[in-house]
Order: sequence, then structure tokens, then C-alpha cells
Amino acid sequence: MKSHSNGKIRRVAILGGGPVASTLATLLARKGRKVGIWHRPRRAPLLVGESLVPAIIPMLRSLGVEEEVRSFSTFKPGATFNLSDQVNFSFFFDQLSGGMPRYAYNVPRDRFDDALLDAARKAGAKICETGAKVERVPGTDRVQLSAETLEAAGEFFSEASDLIVDATGRARVLPELLSIPSRRGERQDTALFAHVDQMPLDHAGHVHTTRIDHGWSWRIPLPGRVSVGMVLFACGRARLGIGRRYSRVH
Ligand SMILES: Cc1cc2nc3c(=O)[nH]c(=O)nc-3n(C[C@H](O)[C@H](O)[C@H](O)COP(=O)(O)OP(=O)(O)OC[C@H]3O[C@@H](n4cnc5c(N)ncnc54)[C@H](O)[C@@H]3O)c2cc1C
Repeated sequence: MKSHSNGKIRRVAILGGGPVASTLATLLARKGRKVGIWHRPRRAPLLVGESLVPAIIPMLRSLGVEEEVRSFSTFKPGATFNLSDQVNFSFFFDQLSGGMPRYAYNVPRDRFDDALLDAARKAGAKICETGAKVERVPGTDRVQLSAETLEAAGEFFSEASDLIVDATGRARVLPELLSIPSRRGERQDTALFAHVDQMPLDHAGHVHTTRIDHGWSWRIPLPGRVSVGMVLFACGRARLGIGRRYSRVH
């Protein structure tokens, strides 16, 4: 969202501290833009989004973080699907044709997000560990960072930003401010997940997807543990007596 500009975009404020925010910050800072990230410190130790696909690898290389990500992740050579008693199959990324890398990683999301944020910091972006607040500029159709949000960046961001990017994911900070509605799909799935010490796997490193009654489950091997998740369709949730209040995924 453009808040204020005389043509050239020099200062960019990015709201959020996930992979999208950090990646954009690194790329813009490398292009000489002054970039600030407002990043609300993480509340939940576990985050979903742990199994990467091969198409991400070129971006990790371009950001200069692949070696670091490899050091704390599980090498992922493929994927396994258990769909029914009759339909079970695995595929390996080395069967892929074309220029795509033949592997990916399963990443502990806290360390992954930290590595990407660190890359942004090294590229010159200012990381402010505080939630961002935006407000309407009275009498205009523009928005701006609140005074306390700007203050968190100290002297680095003394002038208003030319562009505000909302990378807050499901928090939807700018759409909420501007009353831009979101359309909910018909599915009201609920995801529950945890990390466990041990869990049987068909293939080391593979993300495993299994069909279960009223939903599906994932097993994502990480170093020393396995992320186990269950996605339940609304009907399954009702049968198990799980209320909506347990349905928020962070
Ligand atoms: C159940 C489930 C399983 C998934 N599994 C996978 C998977 O295996 N592999 C995969 O690639 N993807 C997976 N995803 C998708 C993945 O989680 C998202 O695509 C990814 O996290 C999106 O990144 P992002 O940077 O856009 O947003 P997010 O990662 O959501 O980051 C948003 C950030 O904004 C911050 N924030 C919020 N409000 C504010 C504020 N006011 N000020 C400052 N910061 C704020 C939050 O703290 C957070 O750090 C899964 C998603 C779900 C729901």
C-alpha cells in the first residue's frame, strides 16, 4: 500500500516478520532501498509451514541462506502419500525433469524465520521487534505508521515511508484498518499439530501425507523430532467434540 510518494520509492516499511517480509526486505535493501521491518515477537514456539518444496531452493540460494538452512534442517528427498489401503505411493524429487533442484528441506520454522530475518538485517534492513500499528491520515485516503511504530525504528526511519507493505499474513493489519473484507471459503478445516520424539516413517526425510477419517494428517521429519499434524474437516471436528476455539493455527 502506497502511503506517500513523490514518484520514487526510497523508504519501505514492511509489517510482519515471516518469510515473505524478510525475503522482500533483503531484496529491496540490496536494491538500495531503506527498509524497516516491524516484527511482532513470536508468541508460539511452534509454527506451521515446515516442509519446503524444491522450487524454494533457488530463492534460498539467492538470499545466501541455503547453507545455514541446511545446517538446522532435515534433507527432504521426496514425498509419501498414504491415501487408502490400496493407494500408497512415494515420489522422489530426483525423478523431476527440468532445471528444478532435486531436493528440499523440512525446516524448524522458528530457526528458518530467524535465518531469513538475519539475512535481511545483514542486507541493511532495520528490524524493529515490535508490533506495527498503522492509521489513516486524517482527511486523506492514505495510511501511515503510528508515531510509536516509527519511534521504534529510532533515527533509521525519521521520515514517513513511501510504501507500506503488509506481510502480516492472517493478521491482515491493513485490510482490517481499511475494512477490506476477506472471503471465507466454505471449508472450515481445523489444524492441530505437535512435535513428537518418535514416529514411524516410510521414507527418511519425506513429508508424509495420510488420509484419515474426516480429514488428513501430515508427518514432517525434523532433526530429532517429527511434526505431526491433523487437518479435520468441520464434520470430523464435530464428531470429535472439538470446538472452534481450538481451531486457531499460529
Ligand atoms: C496448517 C498449515 C500447515 C502449513 N504447512 C506448510 C508446509 O508444510 N509448507 C509450507 O511451505 N507452507 C505451509 N503452510 C503455509 C505457510 O505457513 C505460510 O504460507 C507462510 O507461513 C506464509 O508466510 P508469511 O510470511 O506470508 O506469513 P506468516 O508466516 O504468517 O508471518 C506473518 C508474520 O506477521 C507477524 N505479525 C502479525 N501481526 C503483526 C503486526 N501487527 N505487526 C508486526 N508483525 C505482525 C506475525 O507475528 C508473523 O511473524 C501451512 C499453513 C497452515 C495453516
